[in-house]
Amino acid sequence: MNCLGINSHLCKIEKASLTNSIVLKNLAERDKKYLWHPLTQHKLHPEMLPIVKAKGSLLYDDKGVEYIDGIASWYTSAYGHCNDFILKKVYEQMQQLDQVVFSGFTHEPAVKLSEELMSILPGNQEKLFFSDNGSTAVEVGIKMALQYHHNQGNNQQVLLAFEDSFHGDTFGAMSVSSLSVYNGPFEDFFIEVERIPVPTKKNIESILIALEKILKQNTVAAFIYEPLVQGAAAMKMHDADGLNRILALLQQHNVLTIADEVMTGFGKTGSYFASDHMAAKPDIMCFSKALTAGLMPMAITSCTRTVYDAFYSDELTKGLFHGHTYTANPLACTAALAGIELLRSDEIQNDIKRVVAAHQKFDTEIKNHPKVARTRQCGIIYALDLNVKMERYGNLRDRLFKHFMDNGVYLRPLGNTIYISAPYIISDGQLQKVYSTIKSAFDLV
Ligand SMILES: *Cc1c(COP(=O)(O)O)cnc(C)c1O
Repeated sequence: MNCLGINSHLCKIEKASLTNSIVLKNLAERDKKYLWHPLTQHKLHPEMLPIVKAKGSLLYDDKGVEYIDGIASWYTSAYGHCNDFILKKVYEQMQQLDQVVFSGFTHEPAVKLSEELMSILPGNQEKLFFSDNGSTAVEVGIKMALQYHHNQGNNQQVLLAFEDSFHGDTFGAMSVSSLSVYNGPFEDFFIEVERIPVPTKKNIESILIALEKILKQNTVAAFIYEPLVQGAAAMKMHDADGLNRILALLQQHNVLTIADEVMTGFGKTGSYFASDHMAAKPDIMCFSKALTAGLMPMAITSCTRTVYDAFYSDELTKGLFHGHTYTANPLACTAALAGIELLRSDEIQNDIKRVVAAHQKFDTEIKNHPKVARTRQCGIIYALDLNVKMERYGNLRDRLFKHFMDNGVYLRPLGNTIYISAPYIISDGQLQKVYSTIKSAFDLV
C-alpha cells in the first residue's frame, strides 16, 4: 500500500489498529512515566486501571472486563455513557461551530441552552454565567456574592457554610469546604468562614439561635450549601424543612444564599434540582457534573435579577470581570441541551422513578442487617453505613473497593459508607448485580 500523500492517513489508521492491542497492554505502565492523577498519593497507590471504552452503564477495561458504573463517573453520565442521542447532536454541532470567544460574541447553543435551562430552573433565576467545572462555578458564585455587597458599599465579607461541606478544590471553593483535611498547606490563605451544622428535626431551633448570633457578630455576605445531600461527606443527607427555615432567615438579613447543585442538579434528588424541594429559593446556583451529561467539561452559575442588577452600571469596574477561555463552548452547550431534552423525556423520568423504587425495595431488605448501621436515600442516591469504624481512604476501604471491582461493579466507598448514584438508564439486572455485590461485601467486615 502507498503510504504517501492521500493514503498516508489511512495507512496510519491501519498501523494503529494493528499495534492497538500491544499499546493497550502497556497503558498502565506508560501511565506511570508522565502522569500525575487527582486525589492520589502515587507512592501508596501507583496502579491505574486503563479504561478503553464506555457504553450505557458499563465501563470496559483493557482486558475486556466490564464494570457497572455505580457512580456514573462522579455523577456526570446521568443518561449513560456514549449516549447515541447526545453524540449525534454534538457531532452535528462540531461541523458547524466548534469554539468561539464568548466575550463580544454569542451563538445559538448558548442562547438555546439559556432558554431551556430557565424553563426548568427555580422561577427566581434570571441570569447565567458560564465557566468550566464545579469549582469554578462555586468560585464565580462566591465572587458574585462578595462583589454584590462591595458594589453597594456594604461591608459584608464573611461567608457561612455547613460543617462537612465540599465545594471544590480552587481557593475560594477550598475555603468554604470543611472537608479540608488535605488543605493544610493552604489554610492561611482562606476567606473567613463561619460554620453551622446541617439541620435535623432536632437541632433546627438551636441552629436558628446560633445563626442570629453569628449574624449579629459578623458581616456575613453569603451562605453556600449543598442542598439536601453532601456528596463528598459520604452522601450525608439533611432535612428540607430545616434548610428552608435557614434560607428564609438569611434572606431576611440580606445574606445571599448560594446553592451548590454541582452534584445534586439534573434529577439526582428525584426532581430537576434539590432546590425544588424547598419553598425558599437560592439567590445564586452552581451547576456542573451532569449538566453536560458527562460529555464535556462545563459549568454554569445562575443568579437572580437582583444580584445581576448590582453589577449593571455605567461604571466599568462594577461589572463581573471574570472569564474562562472555553466559556460557553458550543459543543458543551450542545451536550447540555441534549441532556436537558433527555431529562425532560417521559423515558428518563420513568427511569428515575424505577431506580428510586428499586433502591427503596433494597433498603427494606438490608436496613436491619447486623452489618448495616444506617441507610439513607434521596432520589436516585442511596447510601448505607457499615457497622464498623473505618478510615476514609484506609485499608478496609481498599478491600471493599477491590471486592466491588473483582465482581464487576465500580463503587467508591468513602470510609464506612457505600453509596450508589448510577446512570438513570441502569437496567434492572445491573441494579440487582450492584445490590448483590454490596450484600456479599458485608462478609468482609
Ligand atoms: C464535584 C463537586 C464540586 C467540584 O466540581 P469539580 O468539577 O470537581 O471542580 C463542587 N461542589 C460539589 C457539591 C461537588 O460535588
